[in-house]
Amino acid sequence: MKPSSSARPEPLPADFIEVCTTAWGAEAEQRLHALNQPAVSSIRLHPQKRFSHSTLEKVPWHPEGRYLAQRPVFTLDPAFHAGAYYVQEASSMVLWEVINQLPKPKFAIDLAAAPGGKSTLLLDWMQEKGWLLANEPIPNRALALQDNLKKWGYSNSMQSRVYPEQLAKAIPESADLLLLDAPCSGEGMFRKDAFARQQWSFHLRTQCAKTQSSILPDAVKLIKPGGHLIYSTCTFNEHENHGHADLLFSLGMRPVQLSLSEDFGFKQLTNSMGWIAYPGEVRGEGFYVAAWKKEGTCIEEEMEVAPKSANSCPFSAYLPENVQWNCMEWNSAWYAIRQPLPSFWSRIPGLQFLGICLGKSEKGRSIPDSHLAFISGCPAPRLSLDEFQVLPYLKGLAPYFKPQNEPWILAEFNGLGLGWLKTAGNRFNNAYPQPWRIRMDIPAKLSNPWF
Ligand code: SAM
Repeated sequence: MKPSSSARPEPLPADFIEVCTTAWGAEAEQRLHALNQPAVSSIRLHPQKRFSHSTLEKVPWHPEGRYLAQRPVFTLDPAFHAGAYYVQEASSMVLWEVINQLPKPKFAIDLAAAPGGKSTLLLDWMQEKGWLLANEPIPNRALALQDNLKKWGYSNSMQSRVYPEQLAKAIPESADLLLLDAPCSGEGMFRKDAFARQQWSFHLRTQCAKTQSSILPDAVKLIKPGGHLIYSTCTFNEHENHGHADLLFSLGMRPVQLSLSEDFGFKQLTNSMGWIAYPGEVRGEGFYVAAWKKEGTCIEEEMEVAPKSANSCPFSAYLPENVQWNCMEWNSAWYAIRQPLPSFWSRIPGLQFLGICLGKSEKGRSIPDSHLAFISGCPAPRLSLDEFQVLPYLKGLAPYFKPQNEPWILAEFNGLGLGWLKTAGNRFNNAYPQPWRIRMDIPAKLSNPWF
């Protein structure tokens, strides 16, 4: 997520002002004024990973949402790297209120999931029951999604990297719940994303609306009869939001009446067409959300136990003992599965991982995956880093520690797992993944960015 700029924002596009003045009527002046104010900063805490921060003000519509008076340098905060919180725009956390009005799914899909803000929020809600398939077709964005899912540390996510059409062909009518947080023109992000302002045009809006209406039929195909669709964007205009209602009706979807507390400041559209957050009225950025239900009655999906591998799992000692795990070898890596899989799992196209990625066995050596470092209760031998050691570790340096008689050591800070160290004779090699390493200059000693 890009930091909000303290510099004076570029003026709003003239065509945008004109069209909003007509669409918003008496509220236009105040809303356009709000779009030139600084963006609101916020984070969502991991419900199971506690870290020390000063008391932060709560976001009213999410139990773990917190406003930030100032944006710290997240890169220099080990808790950020440990997945103790997700830097997420406050208005979009209202998804929490929406899902709490729907049944819990056995199989959910986040169809346009990168970088993972809403997938991690859905996972918090699911509490490791049922599966979430987080899909993202754009390769570099899919990598960021994978990193964020792993750092969030749950065992019930899987990731695919395909366009919705391929998914709909392979596993139609599979999802109890599907979230389409659609690619959009980003009008609601004008305060925090200068590029969204620069690139805005009527043409872009039309293009985005076309893309959304091309994704929606596949999205609906993926939903079970009786299942739900949540459709959201971070834009204001009708064409990209409730303008898709006729299409959805024609696809057999019916709107769901959602309720939100008036105190939140979101605006309800008529006929259950969803809710909109306007900056200035809501303490957050622009966001639109609506829920739809597919006609018909839900058929229970058959679940199957993950296939057991013939070889014994070299990573089983790293898994918490209080849970019954099924370890399987798939696509030349090892995975730990905690619960039955939907029977169609092997047909999911472009599947990147499922469950917990344990690691790989190469030339007789076992190399643990970073995912394991983030799960709750990983019983691997640990080394607690202090405030002088932690940033160098995250930078990829290999400081000297007292040797231990274990091949792999989990580096942690304040009880939060960060990554692996490999024992090499009298020292450790830093196994923190290259792409995650801090590139900026670091201070000699960590200072708590929250006080
Ligand atoms: N839900 C994400 C989150 O909360 O972090 C943000 C999703 S962003 C608004 C929309 C995503 O849709 C982008 O990651 C984009 O790469 C992806 N996308 C673009 N074209 C797509 C398509 N045709 N089908 C599915 N996803 C697409």
